Amino acid sequence: MVEVTATGQRAAQWAWEVNVSPGGVALTPTDKGVLLALCWHVDDDLCCRLPLHTVVTRLGLSMKPVRVALKRLREYGLVEAVAAPGKVGVYKMPVPADFTPKPWSYAPPPPREAGRPGVSHRRRHDRLAIARSLGQHTAEQWGALVGFCGGCVACRKKSAQLTKDHIEPISKGGHDGITNIQPLCLPCNSAKGARPWRDMRPEGWREAVQLVGGQIE
Ligand SMILES: [Zn+2]
Repeated sequence: MVEVTATGQRAAQWAWEVNVSPGGVALTPTDKGVLLALCWHVDDDLCCRLPLHTVVTRLGLSMKPVRVALKRLREYGLVEAVAAPGKVGVYKMPVPADFTPKPWSYAPPPPREAGRPGVSHRRRHDRLAIARSLGQHTAEQWGALVGFCGGCVACRKKSAQLTKDHIEPISKGGHDGITNIQPLCLPCNSAKGARPWRDMRPEGWREAVQLVGGQIE
């Protein structure tokens, strides 16, 4: 795990709050993920010297969309290239000197998870206990994940009622840690049932969750 400086934390908090460009264009999840990843790794002078291929690996993307997002971010004035962009480009983040992060607020979800059809509450309770013994998440991590994903990751609805979907189902030995959880609306979660589904969380979620909920793993 790469060391994160206090400046990096502050820069990432700034990136976390940037949802539109100074010109008013909404950032895509990739833009946001790239911005977060760069900010997370800045030095004390707000410069990220992380090789681009490292950013690409961290985000689980291919090089092309990262380059495209980076080009957009530079056009928006959210990332400034201070050395010739290339293998070891240096990127500077225009974090305002007087930037103060907003206090984190998060409304906890209802205490009980909705039971799934065909699964008795008792069995679900036992399975969840096993899943929790394998890995646990905090309310802050879930809140950060929901905040970053912005709604159901399958149908993209900003549904009020989101459920915690275990990507590797707990009935198949999946754990209850945040790396195995994605927000799904109730209809999407019911449609999924107990089948393993793919991870649909947008790139950058890991950085976003770590920003609020501490290091993962
Ligand atoms: Zn959905």
